[in-house]
Amino acid sequence: MRTTGKVNGIVSNLVTVTFDGPVSENELCYIKLGDTLLLAEVIKVNGNKASVQVFESTRGLKNGDSVEFLGRMLEASLGPGLLSSIYDGLQNNLKTMTGVFLKRGEYTEALDHEKLWDFTPLASVGDRVIAADWLGEVKEGWLPHKIMVPFKFRGEYTVKSIAPAGAYNIDHTIAVLTDEAGEDVEVTMVQKWPVKLAVKAYKDKPRPQKIMETGVRVIDTFNPIAEGGTGFIPGPFGCGKTVLQHAIAKQGEADVIVMAACGERANEVVEIFTEFPELIDPHTGRHLMERTCIICNTSNMPVAAREASVYMAMTICEYYRAMGLRCLLLADSTSRWAQALREMSNRMEELPGQDAFPVDLSAIIATFYSRAGMVVLNNGRSGAITFIGTVSPSGGNLKEPVTESTKKAARCFYALEQNRADQKRYPSVNPIDSYSKYLEYPEIISYLDETVERGWVDKVMEAKNLVRRGKEMADQINILGDDGVPMSYHEAFWKSELIDFAFLQQDAFDAIDALCPIERQRYMLDLLLDICHHKFEFENFEECRHFFKEMINILRQMNYSEFKSEKFNDYQQQLNKMINS
Ligand code: ADP
Ligand code: MG
Repeated sequence: MRTTGKVNGIVSNLVTVTFDGPVSENELCYIKLGDTLLLAEVIKVNGNKASVQVFESTRGLKNGDSVEFLGRMLEASLGPGLLSSIYDGLQNNLKTMTGVFLKRGEYTEALDHEKLWDFTPLASVGDRVIAADWLGEVKEGWLPHKIMVPFKFRGEYTVKSIAPAGAYNIDHTIAVLTDEAGEDVEVTMVQKWPVKLAVKAYKDKPRPQKIMETGVRVIDTFNPIAEGGTGFIPGPFGCGKTVLQHAIAKQGEADVIVMAACGERANEVVEIFTEFPELIDPHTGRHLMERTCIICNTSNMPVAAREASVYMAMTICEYYRAMGLRCLLLADSTSRWAQALREMSNRMEELPGQDAFPVDLSAIIATFYSRAGMVVLNNGRSGAITFIGTVSPSGGNLKEPVTESTKKAARCFYALEQNRADQKRYPSVNPIDSYSKYLEYPEIISYLDETVERGWVDKVMEAKNLVRRGKEMADQINILGDDGVPMSYHEAFWKSELIDFAFLQQDAFDAIDALCPIERQRYMLDLLLDICHHKFEFENFEECRHFFKEMINILRQMNYSEFKSEKFNDYQQQLNKMINS
């Protein structure tokens, strides 16, 4: 028997319900509004009263309307067909809809139940299996999609039967497993998992071992993110957060991409709808969408759905990670999610924390970030979730609670700066304040030693110092005037500009410059450091400025040319001539 209740109070989409029977936190319920069922989630239980947040507009709802509790939490349907789908936070399939927005109370199937998938068994009769073990495989696009023992299964099971190779829909029983008590359970290609609980279907969660290449120089070389690592991009509106995230999505070395677009402007989401399906994957030449799942909510959808969307996206990543795949999770912007938490907490009249955010904001963010990571599966293979979220602090204030809490949780910090964006220095990642803590990890340092170059991190630090020194010189020149400082100040300043213009800046909209593989990054950094090591003798600061401007010009042309092509080599020769003259 399901618990039922009655609406007792309504504040926007926060509804209080009096009920009779057992109700737990995060349980779902339906509120009956005429013929429409509104889905809601319990966020607080107090005696026989529950506060529930409705995932829809509550217009027309009144006291006394009836409520039915579902006895389960918000779950993700996990199975073949997730990739290339576009969902909202409740996993309604938006592509099956006529418009982007669903009607109130309209919920759609997440997965296609008719489509046939070519199944290949991986387990054999008599095998002993536990949750998340691989029973079989289907091809989803070109990715091997493992059909796993459902994550909810506890204890050991024996494979009683397994379907032979063939084409089946997701509801077909592909295996029968016998549990320790001798009971048989049927397994299909779909399983469900509550989005707010982390999937712990792995043996071990070691420290990250390698870098995830993104093709973006200011990330890969200056502040690399580890595979299974976490990073975040704070920046005021219009500084390039979305462009940077899309560049990472297009180029990042990952098998599966999950984009959670939660609550930025509505037209941005429409852009994702039209733009993403067109994108070509530079690694395979196929449509990027084939290995992408998009979860989106715009700011005009109710707040509760925004909160759900980041959890939905993470759960889908955890599912693919359990198949031994490398997932890249991008959330844009997590501030909107935090605002959703704030709205709810304020409506519940909870004791507010800083800036009226809930007091446990830090813990909520930290718990979420900790679900990313590299894992070793029970079969010894590994999988990873690399997570990068954007934060849009109001007024660009990096001291606000969401930025501060995220900074504690994420290991890479890519601070976008209004000033740099105004000067069109894209990506506008601040070269001095940004960091990657992975550059301090011994595992990562030796990985870079082996895959890029021995002593690579020292070179990166040298380049960072040159940039930092150049900015200090710029301040001095500003105060004392061009003629008031020694020539060496000008030289140091222009050397930092050289690194800034020729290395840190990168055109996300140029076919060649947008994607810079690590080999090319190494070549360019070596070239730039060579130039910086050179001591030039300038007569006056104008000569210095002129010289470096010309050099920057050539270096930028190089960035727009095919690596080591004739044109590229020509520019290189022009540079050599300049240095030696
Ligand atoms: P945000 O998401 O922070 O509000 P966007 O990512 O939408 O900002 O970027 C705003 C604009 O900045 C873009 O439309 C683009 O014109 C410019 N821009 C950002 N990054 C780059 C880049 N790497 N190369 C060229 N232009 C860029
Ligand atoms: Mg944006």
